[in-house]
Amino acid sequence: MPHEKKRVLVVGAGAAGTACAWSLSQHPERFEVEVWEALPVPGGVASSCAVKDGKHVINDQVQGGAPSYRHNLRLLQMFGFKPSPVMMRIAFGVGDKQWTNHSPSGLTSRLQAEIARFGRVLRWVKRLEALFVVLPIDTVLRLLRFSDDFRYQMVFPLVALFFGTGNQTPRVSAAVVARVFLDPDLRLFDYCPSRLLNSVPEMFAFPVLEEVWGTIAKRSGFKLCCSRPLAKLHRLPGSAGVLATDAAGATCAFHEVVFACDAETVLKTMDNPTWLERRLLRNVRYYTDFCLTHEDHDYMADMYDIKPAQRDNYFVRTYSGADADKIEMSFNLSTYQPHLKVPHRVTWGGGGEAGLDIYQTYYLDDRHRRLWTDGRVEPGKVLARRWMRQFAHTWTHFACWVPWIRFIQGTRHTWYCGSYTLVNTQEIAVISGLAAAERLGAPYPFADDPLAAKQFDSYLAVVHGARRRGAADASGGWLAWLGSWLPSWWRSRSVAPA
Ligand SMILES: Cc1cc2nc3c(=O)[nH]c(=O)nc-3n(C[C@H](O)[C@H](O)[C@H](O)COP(=O)(O)OP(=O)(O)OC[C@H]3O[C@@H](n4cnc5c(N)ncnc54)[C@H](O)[C@@H]3O)c2cc1C
Repeated sequence: MPHEKKRVLVVGAGAAGTACAWSLSQHPERFEVEVWEALPVPGGVASSCAVKDGKHVINDQVQGGAPSYRHNLRLLQMFGFKPSPVMMRIAFGVGDKQWTNHSPSGLTSRLQAEIARFGRVLRWVKRLEALFVVLPIDTVLRLLRFSDDFRYQMVFPLVALFFGTGNQTPRVSAAVVARVFLDPDLRLFDYCPSRLLNSVPEMFAFPVLEEVWGTIAKRSGFKLCCSRPLAKLHRLPGSAGVLATDAAGATCAFHEVVFACDAETVLKTMDNPTWLERRLLRNVRYYTDFCLTHEDHDYMADMYDIKPAQRDNYFVRTYSGADADKIEMSFNLSTYQPHLKVPHRVTWGGGGEAGLDIYQTYYLDDRHRRLWTDGRVEPGKVLARRWMRQFAHTWTHFACWVPWIRFIQGTRHTWYCGSYTLVNTQEIAVISGLAAAERLGAPYPFADDPLAAKQFDSYLAVVHGARRRGAADASGGWLAWLGSWLPSWWRSRSVAPA
C-alpha cells in the first residue's frame, strides 16, 4: 500500500522558506508542500523594486555575497541566472579619520602599532573561542586598552558593515569578529598588520532577486500562496499534526510545519508553545532599522569621503562624541548592480539612462532616531523608503539562542529555519531551509560540492544537533566553531530520520 504523502506547511517564502519548499518538492511522491507568504511576492528581504517611474529596477535589500556562498550560486546556476562579479571598495570615516580597504591613509599610519597588536589579539581569540564567543568585542578591546580611535573609527565600522544590524556592534561576540579575519572559509578580508585591510575582495551581486525567487517558485512543484499570512498555528496532540489558520480565517491541516519567518511571528502565531519554545524564541532580539534609497549626491558628499575616481561602493560614517560607537552606512548601488548599468528589459519595461548614481543609506535602531541624518536627504531626491526589523549578532544571540535551538527542532511537528537561526546572511538562509527539508526526509541536493556540503553539515550539527544521512562526521567548516565549544555530547546528538 503506498505511504500517505506528508503534507508540509512552510510559513514564509524568503530564501529559507523557498529553498526548503524547493528541496521537499523534488520528492513529490513523499511530500505535498504548501507555502504561505504574507507578502504579494516570494523572496522576503531578497526583494526588488522599480524606481524612477519604473525605468529602473533595483534589488532594494539583499545585494550580494561572497564566492563561498555555494548554495546560492548553485541555485542561481540551476535556474539559469548569472551573478556578476563586484570588487568591494569601502570608504570609512571623513577628514583625518578617513581610511579605505585599498589605499594608505593618515589614520592607519597613526594607529599602526594598534593594528599590529590587534592581529595578535585575533589569534588568541580564535584559539580560545569557547571563552570569547560570550565576550563582546568592545569589552575585549577595552580590557586590552585599545584606543577610542581604533575601536570607533576602525574596528566597529568594519564589523558593522557585516554584523551591525540594530547598531549593536560593540556587543558583537569577539569570536565572530575573529572569524571575519581568520576563518579560511568565512574570511572576507585578509588581515593586514600595517593597514588592517589592504585587499579588495571579489564578491558577487545578485541578478534581479524578484525574478530569481519568482522563477524558482514557479518551476518547482510546491503550492505558493502569496498574500496569505499565517494568523494562528495550533499543534494537535501526539502525531495528529498541526492546524494552520490564515488571516482570512481559513483553517487547513498539515502533518508538519516549517517556520521560515522571524521568531517574533512564530511567538505571535503559535497558540500553544511549550515552555522551552517560548523561553528560547524570546532570546532572538530584533531592532527596527530604516533605509532610504535616494539620489542626493550633495548629502553623500557632506556625510562621506566621496572620491568618484575611487569608485567606492560602500561608505561608513561614525557618529561623534558619546555616540561614537554607532554608525550610519550607505551604498552606491549603481557601482555594482549590473541591471542599473544597462537598461533592464526583462519584466520591467526597460529604458532609461546608464551612468546613474543611486544610493541607499541605512539608519540603525530607531531608539537612536535623534542621531539619524535622514532629515538631511533632499525629499525630492528620495526614491524609496523602507522600515525593517532585523536581529542583531550580540553575544547573547550566540550564548542564549543558537546552541539551544536543536532542543526545539521537531517539537510537535514544528521546525525552524531562516537566517536568524545562526547569522544574518543569504547563504545561511538557504542552508537553513535545505536543512529543515533534510530533517523531514528530503536528501541534501548539493552533496557533490565539497565546500557546500561542509558548510551544510556544520550548520546541521550546530542548529539541529544532527548528522546528514550518508555524510561523514561533521567536522571543521566555517560554522562548526559555534558547536566546537559545546560539550561533545551535545554535538551530533541524532541522525536525521531516514
Ligand atoms: C536590508 C537587508 C540587506 C541584506 N543584504 C544582504 C546581502 O547583501 N548579502 C547577504 O548575504 N545577506 C544580506 N542580508 C541578510 C540575508 O539576506 C537575510 O538574512 C536572508 O535573506 C533572510 O532570509 P529568510 O528567509 O531567513 O528571512 P526573510 O527573507 O525575512 O523571509 C521571511 C518571510 O516570512 C514572511 N512572513 C512573515 N510573517 C509571516 C506570516 N505570518 N505568514 C506568512 N509569511 C510570513 C515574510 O513576509 C518573509 O517573506 C540582508 C538583510 C537585510 C534585511
